[in-house]
Amino acid sequence: MARVEFEHVEKIYAEGTHAVVDCSLQIADGELMVFVGPSGCGKSTLLRLIAGLEPVTSGTLRIGERVVNDLAPQERNVAMVFQDYALYPFMSVRRNLEFPLKMRKLSRDETRRRVEWAAGLLDIAQVLDRLPKQLSGGQRQRVAMGRALVREPSVFLLDEPLSNLDAKLRVQVRAEIGQLQHRMGTTMIYVTHDQVEAMTLGDRVTVLQQGRLQQVAPPRELYDRPANVFVAGFIGNPPMNLFPTRVAVERDHTTMTIGDQAVGIRVSAAARDLVARATRLTAGVRPEAFQLAAGAAADGPVRATIEHVEYLGHETLAYVRIGNVGSSAALRLVARVPGMHEFARGAALPLSIDPAQVHLFDEAGRALPA
Ligand code: ADP
Repeated sequence: MARVEFEHVEKIYAEGTHAVVDCSLQIADGELMVFVGPSGCGKSTLLRLIAGLEPVTSGTLRIGERVVNDLAPQERNVAMVFQDYALYPFMSVRRNLEFPLKMRKLSRDETRRRVEWAAGLLDIAQVLDRLPKQLSGGQRQRVAMGRALVREPSVFLLDEPLSNLDAKLRVQVRAEIGQLQHRMGTTMIYVTHDQVEAMTLGDRVTVLQQGRLQQVAPPRELYDRPANVFVAGFIGNPPMNLFPTRVAVERDHTTMTIGDQAVGIRVSAAARDLVARATRLTAGVRPEAFQLAAGAAADGPVRATIEHVEYLGHETLAYVRIGNVGSSAALRLVARVPGMHEFARGAALPLSIDPAQVHLFDEAGRALPA
């Protein structure tokens, strides 16, 4: 087991792409860390740097206590599971599992012990004599995991390991991977573009955009306190409503504009000065921070018009407009309401907003102190 540490790591590919920009990050021993972000944000590159499949351009990369910048992949004691599993098609499952151990010249007994241990752990003992093509997608995925497990690495690297599975199996295997990691306690770094996978699996999640770390935090914190507009919009489905706003701070009362209307909000003492000085703020309101409002109140409710409705059974998503069609202040937002509601398109929907659940971001997109 080992921790992994990036210190001001940069990666610039030969033809000039700056794939990783000043990355400083510590992954604890035994932690399950997820790297998440849109395609091309640099998450696979980070994984390949750890595996030693790509050299770092500058900075320091440590695994355990060792600086590994110049170590070959086989000297790093890490194992990587690839998206396409990279199984040998003409070898049985057993041979596939034995292969990395043969390369390391382990004894026959030790090889057998490890293969049987991994097969038991992954529930593939009954398919050891089959060829990869005779397996289901889920079994193939487990064999790929097994081939990494048998090496007993100090760090596991998984690059989108579920992308070839159908939606239902993905949920199942995702849970299995999480349980396996917790049972074994081996440091695991898991790359995905899927924020649901990231949120459900990670002890902590690193959100990346254009090669830069945006926020590193446990899932709950990413959701409740996104550090910037990018993270706010990336984590959560449907995404957080983000819109330009103006905030008026008065002595005992603060309001923000939402389209052509205004609602009361709370602003922390720490954010007051920043808000007063700001010229351009962005507000963030999660769909569930709206509630159906009963009657009129001093600051609201917001008068919204229903444009589209999605009935999901346990909840209803109301896609609403605030302000008149064509007006420059018109906003389109989504509200999430528990249970089933017969909302009619074009009808008025009065919504209140929980003031404690309003996020504010400055001109540079950074969250104001809560
Ligand atoms: P992600 O895994 O988040 O989709 P990658 O790490 O694969 O992103 O890519 C990050 C950036 O680096 C992208 O702009 C990509 O085109 C570029 N890139 C990735 N691999 C290479 C490579 N081998 N050579 C040159 N550029 C690369």
